[in-house]
Amino acid sequence: MGGYRAKKRLGQNFLTSRAIIDKIRDVVNAKPGEVIIEIGPGRGALTVALAETGAKIVAVEFDRDLAGYLGKLAARYENLQIIQADFLSYEPDYDCYKLVGNLPYNITSPVIDWVVRHRDNITGAVFMVQKEVGRRLASSAGSKNWSPIAIFTQLHFDVQICFDVSPIHFEPPPKVTSSVIELKPKKSIHVDNFDLFETVVRHAFKQRRKTLVNNLMEGLSGERADVVGVLTEMGLSERCRAEELSIARFLELTNHLASHTIFPYKD
Ligand code: SAM
Repeated sequence: MGGYRAKKRLGQNFLTSRAIIDKIRDVVNAKPGEVIIEIGPGRGALTVALAETGAKIVAVEFDRDLAGYLGKLAARYENLQIIQADFLSYEPDYDCYKLVGNLPYNITSPVIDWVVRHRDNITGAVFMVQKEVGRRLASSAGSKNWSPIAIFTQLHFDVQICFDVSPIHFEPPPKVTSSVIELKPKKSIHVDNFDLFETVVRHAFKQRRKTLVNNLMEGLSGERADVVGVLTEMGLSERCRAEELSIARFLELTNHLASHTIFPYKD
């Protein structure tokens, strides 16, 4: 692909290190016959390494120029299919598959939403993300990185940081360090009232400098004294912050609020 100019708006930072490509391929651990869906194959650096494992590779690339180039590459591998599409509106025809991608950083959150929506079909995911986003996704309660995206992901997946990748391994180099992370499906944590749980979690973290009760008051219909009462029942201080609550505690909080008929404001 001589002379090709990377498109910044599509998050095009292409991997150039054979060693990093091999490390990602090893984490993916693709087996012949398995379906691997690659998000944003770009110039095919990872795609070729994956295709050589004998797995069925379905590579979804938004950029028409790159998809055209990859189409020629696909002629060399009968187990490689290129689809020119926006991954976010792509619906796979397969019952189960692994996802892989050196993600365009501007679509990381919607990709994670996609993963959570398609969780019943996903046997695993290996993504390159910005280091900070990786730390956030893999964080746990009590850490400053603990956040709604970690909670909604960890309801269904265990998240692990595999290794960090310096900007020198990309062309053009991004401004930040990246991390390869792995999502492994686990038995989902059941949520009785998901709408209320989601509202509680999203509001709880809205302004990190604020206490949990102050953040909750912005989105819930109850009186402050009732919300403080719920926290007291749970053995939590009025001064506590969202970062301190585990998923189990957020579920408990949701159930307590529901039993006191404290619900989100209707729009
Ligand atoms: N996998 C290649 C590599 O590691 O060298 C390229 C990775 S680059 C960070 C991200 C790729 O995702 C680019 O090829 C870009 O064109 C593509 N892309 C951006 N937005 C996309 C979308 N919505 N759907 C599919 N591909 C997208």
